Amino acid sequence: MAVSDHVDLDGFMAGVNRRNPHQPEFVQAVQEVAQDIFEFIADKEDYHEQQILRRIAEPDRVVSFRVCWEDDTGCIRVQRGWRVQNNNAIGPYKGGLRFHSSVNESVLKFLAFEQTFKNALTGLPMGGGKGGSNFNPKGKSKREIMRFCQSFMTELYRHIGPDTDVPAGDIGVGAREIGFMFGQYKRITNQFEGVLTGKSLEFGGSMIRPEATGYGAVYFLANMLAAKDDEISGKTAVISGSGNVATHAAEKIVQLGGKPVTLSDSGGFIHDPEGLTLAKINWVKEHKTHRRGRISDYAKEFTGSTFHEGEAPWNVPCDVALPCATQNELHGDDARALVGNGCIAVSEGANMPSDLEAVRVFKDAKIMFAPGKAANAGGVAISGLEMSQNSERRSWSEEELQIMLKDIMNGIHERCLRFGDQGGGYIDYVKGANIAGFKKVADAMLAFGVV
Ligand code: NDP
Repeated sequence: MAVSDHVDLDGFMAGVNRRNPHQPEFVQAVQEVAQDIFEFIADKEDYHEQQILRRIAEPDRVVSFRVCWEDDTGCIRVQRGWRVQNNNAIGPYKGGLRFHSSVNESVLKFLAFEQTFKNALTGLPMGGGKGGSNFNPKGKSKREIMRFCQSFMTELYRHIGPDTDVPAGDIGVGAREIGFMFGQYKRITNQFEGVLTGKSLEFGGSMIRPEATGYGAVYFLANMLAAKDDEISGKTAVISGSGNVATHAAEKIVQLGGKPVTLSDSGGFIHDPEGLTLAKINWVKEHKTHRRGRISDYAKEFTGSTFHEGEAPWNVPCDVALPCATQNELHGDDARALVGNGCIAVSEGANMPSDLEAVRVFKDAKIMFAPGKAANAGGVAISGLEMSQNSERRSWSEEELQIMLKDIMNGIHERCLRFGDQGGGYIDYVKGANIAGFKKVADAMLAFGVV
């Protein structure tokens, strides 16, 4: 087939839209990648002929299942569970499990698609997957969470395995939930194997896994600034979220001499003009994770800070911003506010927190903008190293892993530069990440033929 016969970007996206009705998040994720890939493969006949992008944008499989569990009052509850196995060209499927009321097939397909590129960018042998349930863990007792996790794993176990698919945590799934699911997997299969990552240290977890995503997003930010002879020290940072990623990003910003001034949750954001200290961040971790509290309580605990109900923090003036809560939490107007207030760099700790318009605003303003698939890959990278440690039945020290995490984030930054350098000092990190991630997966797929 001649290159001129190929479908163009609009035709390709029309097909994606047609095949995935009512899946806006998935279509948005494919669109964001496809525009860069089309440019890259314009003169590369193999990728066209083998329909590589079309194949990556069609998950290998989507498993959907019923999850029944009994609540504390004896009522039977029915939830939906999914595992989306997007692509295993370069390694076993790998990606987190999300428990949140907003979870649906579209959200998980977008996350699995993004994960495929992210995992390739790390340089580790991991394919892309994602899963979860519309189960809402908020307000549930520990025993209810345990029963739900056990029921979820009773179906999931037949689709995963250390060389097949290795899930991890995500929103609503932390060490406690991973523990419940690992216990159930072990009970059903009678195998103690590295089938989940994000495990506790006592049973095969890796040092620095909880910190890795937030720390990695800050290392990536530091890399972008260093490319402009700048640094984090002295910078004011606006951060959204108050979960695992947000609190560890804030911690690393403080350690590197910066000043985080906001955190948020689904109720609103707190602004602390004096800056969050390590002690205040530890209070948030304890309050949100162990006491399951709300971020609004921060303003009651620490004088000088304020709580802004129902708002996101993007109007607060800052030098750098780290969206670390959830997808589509930063819109065009928010991006204009950030740029207008002098923000010079954005590093996405969350997956696709900036919508397409916001990304366009950042690109037009030519500020440094790191998409989640590059900036938040530190977590899955340490998960990949957890898999290696489990296979070898050994544990690396915290110091060794800190060095490896930094090296991996440096490597991702280098790969983005390779394909994203637009000349004149501007790096298009979105393009760089999309092309570098695509190329690795695509070349493996070419080698396999049509499978
Ligand atoms: P957590 O569950 O620990 O925290 C999520 C945070 O986001 C909470 O503060 C939560 O507030 C807030 N949030 C969730 N939904 C909304 C919403 N609709 N509006 C505003 N705030 C919201 O999750 P993580 O920190 O682990 O994950 C955060 C993001 O980072 C996600 O996009 C995830 O996919 C991504 N990510 C996580 C990785 C990890 O290693 N954990 C790895 C790579 C990416 P509330 O308490 O009110 O729900």
